[in-house]
Amino acid sequence: MNIASKDQTVKGKNTYTFDEFINKRQNLDWYRDEPFLQKALQHFAGSDYEGLHNSLQSFSPKVSSKWNRLAEQNARPEVRPYMLHYDAFNNRIDRIVRPMEIHQLENEVFGEGLFSDQMSHWESFVKRMLIHQLGEAGVACPLTCTIGLIALLEEYPDENHPELQQILQHTKEGIDADFAIGAQFMSEIQGGSDLPANVLEAVPDGKNYRLYGNKFFCSVAHADYSVVTAKITGSDKVSTFIVPSWLPGDKEKEKRNSYQINRIKWKMGTAELPTGEIHYNGTLAYPVGPEGKGIAVAVGIVLTLSRLEIGIACAGFMLRAAREAKLYGDYRTVFGKKVKDYPLSARTLKRVENAAERTTAGAFKIYDLFLKLDQPLNPGIPKDQPLELRKQLFNLRELVLLQKICATNEGAEVLRDAISIFGGHGVMEEFSSLPRIFRDVIVNEQWEGPRNLLLTQIYKDIQRVADWYPPAEFVASVLKGAPETTIQEYTRKLTDLLQKPVCGDVSDDSIEAAEEWDAFCDGFFKAYQTVALQEIQ
Ligand SMILES: Cc1cc2nc3c(=O)[nH]c(=O)nc-3n(C[C@H](O)[C@H](O)[C@H](O)COP(=O)(O)OP(=O)(O)OC[C@H]3O[C@@H](n4cnc5c(N)ncnc54)[C@H](O)[C@@H]3O)c2cc1C
Repeated sequence: MNIASKDQTVKGKNTYTFDEFINKRQNLDWYRDEPFLQKALQHFAGSDYEGLHNSLQSFSPKVSSKWNRLAEQNARPEVRPYMLHYDAFNNRIDRIVRPMEIHQLENEVFGEGLFSDQMSHWESFVKRMLIHQLGEAGVACPLTCTIGLIALLEEYPDENHPELQQILQHTKEGIDADFAIGAQFMSEIQGGSDLPANVLEAVPDGKNYRLYGNKFFCSVAHADYSVVTAKITGSDKVSTFIVPSWLPGDKEKEKRNSYQINRIKWKMGTAELPTGEIHYNGTLAYPVGPEGKGIAVAVGIVLTLSRLEIGIACAGFMLRAAREAKLYGDYRTVFGKKVKDYPLSARTLKRVENAAERTTAGAFKIYDLFLKLDQPLNPGIPKDQPLELRKQLFNLRELVLLQKICATNEGAEVLRDAISIFGGHGVMEEFSSLPRIFRDVIVNEQWEGPRNLLLTQIYKDIQRVADWYPPAEFVASVLKGAPETTIQEYTRKLTDLLQKPVCGDVSDDSIEAAEEWDAFCDGFFKAYQTVALQEIQ
């Protein structure tokens, strides 16, 4: 029996194949085949565009094919990370076992030196937006946490702690081509949003500290260094510390810095990423930033960057979902017509594409503001800066929060819509990566501040600055470039909502006001994204 007839025996009369679609999807280049992304970059990078474009053209095939394959292999349930608490000789090692593919992906991604002074901001930004299209893949959260750790160390250089200088070098530029990975451990079992309720204790030990207690959500549990929040003995204020996972020479011996990883969590998304529960028992910690200002430092610097990165990630997720749904809609035939040729499917595809481009445009515009502002990262709203600069810093702060809640929320809708274009195949884990990215985007919505916490934060922020930044001025500044009627409409709504009991006690009135506030924030941010989109088009 020759191969063709053997094949026919298996398939019977049905010769249907997905080959054409699969071939096209495999050959997609996530930068080359994304004209909108190129246009956005051209708009924002200006005269640097040509050089960046060339560099991204050579980078993109790697992420679109090789890294994508590695990400898919890492996502298989049988290779999920697990703990090996002891070695064969009864030594506690707390080894996190991960597949070789994830080590390869991690080494290659971190080896790009994305945070190095050698790499331009826009190049790093677009490379990250492409890398995020892999989904979590065990690298997205580590990249994000490393950005925050680097920014914190750069913000607070400390001559008394040469170790911190070494950690900065290791994470930012690499040492002997080894790039270290950062993490941020703040949430405790009694509350993730309520960081002031932290009880992890930092006991002074010379110029350093020793940590005692528990952290309950520790993603990137395999990191080399982490930013940890804790209270110094006798204080009720949180401070920030940098904790090496291993003291010098101990990594090879698998001897952790006096802490244990009790277990790794089983999560609905970001499954490739080990999220541990950690118990500290005299762990050496280096103080960083002003003592007792840990919340402002953590939120103003570390979490701001993580939230910014989540916006970039969501844009990447949506671009991929839109691209792949469009390809499938143009391939699959149902009742004699292509999926894309039905108005109901066409409007879904259009909605997905619009959301992807709007979110991408918004992410670029916010990052542009971030780059243009001198010292964009601040512990708290700065009081000693010129008024105009304070207003711009405030805009950035609120836009980062708005983007975090809106892009994650819309991201889930977009992924679900894109999945629905594939019908039943859309929920098949091996047919496409979209179900995995759908789960990851839902995790993105929860960590770094869930929706209602951030909605509260935005409301209180706007109230708090009203004496030097009137709400009408804030709306006009954020929506600069939008039609006057849009600006007036959002000004009226905001002024009205600031009189309502959005954050008061629960009542019919406050529930209604809360609903309106949620809708306001969503609409307001989409209006901002629309301005960004029109600027690019
Ligand atoms: C997969 C995963 C990995 C994580 N990794 C890390 C990590 O590496 N490091 C780390 O520090 N944390 C991590 N977290 C924790 C994450 O940051 C917290 O889950 C998050 O901050 C919320 O805390 P919580 O889960 O304790 O919820 P809670 O704080 O208990 O919140 C419960 C609910 O209350 C609402 N809420 C809270 N405050 C307010 C308010 N003022 N007004 C109105 N509503 C409010 C929230 O919106 C939420 O709906 C991770 C979480 C997940 C899901």
